[in-house]
Amino acid sequence: TPIVRLENVVKTYDGGVAALRGVDLDIFPGELLAIVGPSGSGKSTLLHMMGVLDRPTSGRVIIAGHDIGRLPDRELSGLRASLLGFVFQQFHLAAGVSALDNVADGMLYSGVPLSERRRRAALALERVGLGERLTHRPHELSGGEQQRVAVARAVVREPAILYADEPTGNLDSASGAEVLGVLRTLHADGTTIAIITHEHEVAAAAGRQVSVRDGRIVSDVRSPL
Ligand code: ADP
Ligand code: ADP
Repeated sequence: TPIVRLENVVKTYDGGVAALRGVDLDIFPGELLAIVGPSGSGKSTLLHMMGVLDRPTSGRVIIAGHDIGRLPDRELSGLRASLLGFVFQQFHLAAGVSALDNVADGMLYSGVPLSERRRRAALALERVGLGERLTHRPHELSGGEQQRVAVARAVVREPAILYADEPTGNLDSASGAEVLGVLRTLHADGTTIAIITHEHEVAAAAGRQVSVRDGRIVSDVRSPL
């Protein structure tokens, strides 16, 4: 069964902009998928639907068996925190806070005690190749390393799916390749990942490319890696 299922999702913003015009999409466990398309095609809106950040105008969004349309607003943030991980173009790390605690803070409201949060944070940082950088603060890290901290924070709670929105958009090509390498490693270890990207190299590294145009999916191609 899919982790994410969108059924005929339509999103029309106030003022009448039809950002999504009927999208069907299933994302299965273990997939590494790239969502591509020109600016204004609806990628961010699609992420907002898949990420339960907003509700569709019509159609259904089902995340790990939960039909979002049947849940009240107050349950959506809990569902987001327990099932979904996010990485953005901006790293959104806390300045002056160690890599370890930036990641441990990703579990701040989980009820897990600090010592256990730090233990899990250290493991997550090892997974992204930063086991030697636990006490470094963001300004002491390269851009690629900062984004890897953000990836560790997004996966420390072991989300059902990791969403990465232009994760290499703020990085030079060497750092971008480093972050892409980390995402591929996590995927190889079983993490389900959807990357929204403009970059051909990033899209080509995914096993599946979904192309969005004018609010519709115009192609959905699986390629052997
Ligand atoms: P992309 O991420 O591919 O650039 P978006 O999903 O941001 O595409 O935008 C799709 C369309 O919806 C665009 O025409 C955009 O201007 C419009 N749009 C996006 N968000 C909003 C919003 N909050 N209010 C009104 N229009 C929006
Ligand atoms: P990006 O493509 O870099 O993800 P966007 O320009 O698509 O960024 O959108 C950035 C934010 O602005 C999103 O939260 C989106 O919903 C909002 N947005 C985009 N277009 C509009 C618009 N026409 N009116 C209002 N909000 C918009």
